[in-house]
Parts: sequence; C-alpha cells; structure tokens
Amino acid sequence: MNAELISVGSELLLGQIVNTNAAFLSQELAIVGIDVFYQTTVGDNDSRLTVSLKQAISRSDLIIITGGLGPTKDDLTKETLASLVGKKLVHHEKSLHNIKSYFQKRNRPMSDNNRKQALVIEGSNVLDNDYGMAPGMIVSVNGTKIVLLPGPPQEMKPMFLNHLLPELSNLLGEQTSITSRVLRFFDIGESQLETDLLDIIESQTNPTIAPLANEGEVTLRLTVKHASKAEQKRLLDETEERITNRVGQYLYGYDDTSLMEQLFLQLQEKRCTIATAESFTGGKFSSMLTSFSGVSSVFRGGTVSYATDVKENVLGVSKEVIMNYGVISMQCALEMASCAKKQYDTDIAISFTGVAGPGKQEGKEPGTIYIGIAGLSKDPLCYGLNLDGRREAVRDRAIKYGCFYLLNEMKRWNKAE
Ligand code: ATP
Ligand code: MG
Repeated sequence: MNAELISVGSELLLGQIVNTNAAFLSQELAIVGIDVFYQTTVGDNDSRLTVSLKQAISRSDLIIITGGLGPTKDDLTKETLASLVGKKLVHHEKSLHNIKSYFQKRNRPMSDNNRKQALVIEGSNVLDNDYGMAPGMIVSVNGTKIVLLPGPPQEMKPMFLNHLLPELSNLLGEQTSITSRVLRFFDIGESQLETDLLDIIESQTNPTIAPLANEGEVTLRLTVKHASKAEQKRLLDETEERITNRVGQYLYGYDDTSLMEQLFLQLQEKRCTIATAESFTGGKFSSMLTSFSGVSSVFRGGTVSYATDVKENVLGVSKEVIMNYGVISMQCALEMASCAKKQYDTDIAISFTGVAGPGKQEGKEPGTIYIGIAGLSKDPLCYGLNLDGRREAVRDRAIKYGCFYLLNEMKRWNKAE
C-alpha cells in the first residue's frame, strides 16, 4: 500500500506558509502503517496540478490532496480533478444546507461563490466538514483512491481524524477499521514518559503507541486496527492499563480535552463551585474557565488582586502575612484562596501569586510561583513552583499547573450533601 500527498497552494511555493498539513498527514499515515512515497507541492494552477495528478494516479494507491476547496477563483482542486477523470460536479444537499445555516447563524448574506463549495465530484464519497464549509471527498479512479481535504489545518485535521481515518482500511480493501485514543499527560516530560514506557512502546504493535509533546503537555496516541469495535476497545483498554500502571498519576484526560476543559467537566460532575484570586495571571485562569458554556453552574467569580493593597483591602489578606512573608509567598497564596472562597461563598477557591518576570520581585526570581487551593481539604493547600521561560509562558504554565493540582485534589473530594 503506497500513498502520496499533494499540497495545493501558491502560498506554499512562495514560502509564505509552512506545509504543516503534509507533516501531519505523513505522521498520521505512518502510525497506521501506510507508506508515503512522495510529497508534491503545486501552485493554484490547473495545468500544473493536472500534471501532478496524472503522475500520482499512475504510481500510487492512495492520494491525499489538501487545499483549494474554498469558494474563490483560485480554488480549483476539485474542478481540475473532475475534468481530468471526466466527471461532473454535482450539488451536495447536506453541504449546501450547512453553508446556508453557517451564514444564517451569523446574519450575513451568502454570496454566490459560496454555493461552489457545496459542489462535489459525482459518485464521490463525501466527508463532512465539522469546522468549516467545504466538504472533503473520496474519489475512486481505476483502483486509486483520491482524497480531497480542505487547506486550513483546523478543518483538515478533524476531517482526517474523525471521518477519513475510520474509513481508511476499508477504503484500501482491508477488513479492519482503525480507531485511535489519545491519552493526555501533564507534569511529566516527553523523554521521561518515553523512558518509563520504552519497553511497552517498542513491543507494542496493535495498538501502536506514538508519543507527542506540545505546549508543556505530552500525549500518547494509541491506534488500533481490528474489524470488531468491541475488540478494538478491549485492546485499547488493555494497553491503557499497562501504561497507567506506571504513569497513571500524570494522566489527566483523553483525546482533545484540555486541562481547563477537564477541570470544568470535573467541577460540573461534582457540582463543585469555584472562585479565584489571581495576581500575576491577571484573570487569565477565570477567562479560560469561562470560555465553556454552562460554566455559570460552577464558576461564581474572582478577584484580580494585582496590587498589594488590593490583596489586602479588596481580598482581605492580612497585613501580618504581607509584612512578614511578602506577597510572593506560600502564606499569601493560602490566604488569597481562603479569602476568595469566603467572599464568593464557594466550595473551593484557587489563588495564584508569583513573579511572572522578567525582573525579580521581593528578591524572588522570575518563575517563582505559589498556587493556593482552599476547600478541598481541611486546611488550605499551597504548591510552590519554579518555572522556566518568558513571562507569558510562565503565566500559561502556572494556569495549567493550577488545573492539574485541582484535578488531583478533586479525585478524593465529594460535595457534602
Ligand atoms: P479556504 O476555504 O480557506 O479557501 P481551501 O481549502 O481553499 O480553504 P486554501 O485556499 O488552499 O484552502 O488554503 C487556505 C488556508 O489554509 C491557507 O491560507 C493556509 O493558511 C492554510 N493552508 C493551506 N494549505 C496548507 C498546508 N499545506 N499547510 C498548512 N496550512 C495550509
Ligand atoms: Mg482557498
């Protein structure tokens, strides 16, 4: 089984954008055991695209093309392919409906060229676009499967993972299907995780295990091939258990779930209300938490107590604590959390105080931070950390740690009825 990729877009040839689509697809195909033998990049030009397509059809079983499915004149991928294989473009009702409702929802007029996006190659197998307008499609030409995916990565990746990947083996004439499960870890580095699991990763063939690090988090993607869904689940569960037996304390969630989303889900499940007292994070924790709809059932409010006198006068941190220990201290973090819990009348509260940098504060190095948690144990708790990196990275990482600590502490917590 050999595959090749065609990336369509003049911006790619001009170096204005980096071809992350090809990197993503090559990695994903390697995981499921499909060899990619060629990657071609071609501009938005029908004659050059035709040459590339002819060559690809002559040598590959699977061709995945990204880009050029949009509404504008320079988007010509499906038109070019249709004319090469002598097929018509036909309207796809469901896609047209999606496009119309997209504009209706936003109260914007739909221009005529948007209808073009609902055209698909006749006889193709249409792939839904859950994050945009242009549908993808699979076209069969003399035994070669040609897949068209949209260019924007935020549309292309979910289409590949959710709609194409489950079909791939079938498409290629195997009787199996493919499913993946992503395990998400925090507070453990990629190299440590790999070291801890090396023998499992190396000996594992079904599911395969692929580690990936991204923004301070590490994920393991387990990819299983089997005809039966039940057997797929059993194989995934079994491998997950082998992994969690060793590094389970770092596992916080699955698939696309961020730390903040996992925290939100836990707060909801445990019907736990939360308040915040934020200093160097400037309200970012609260802002991220409130990005989820339905959060009003758990989040009551918070104080951005940036200045010292605000910590004292608005939040109610005692003068003694500030005088004796300073605001960059465990004692201050503990009081901030206790004060917020009381003021906002919540089950729990979290506080952040520290030095985001670049300069020192109270003689403490940038990256020195304290996270207080009140309400999950008899006495409030505090975690101290020394984080590397620039100001924004320190703030973001502190917020992730805040979520992670809350999730860990909440495991043992249940609301008193
Ligand atoms: P649109 O509806 O946005 O026009 P499209 O399917 O026509 O989508 P293109 O017009 O080719 O896709 O590309 C749209 C955008 O998607 C590009 O400006 C770029 O930001 C991104 N993109 C396209 N191809 C790639 C690629 N190979 N790697 C990374 N990003 C890409
Ligand atoms: Mg386009």
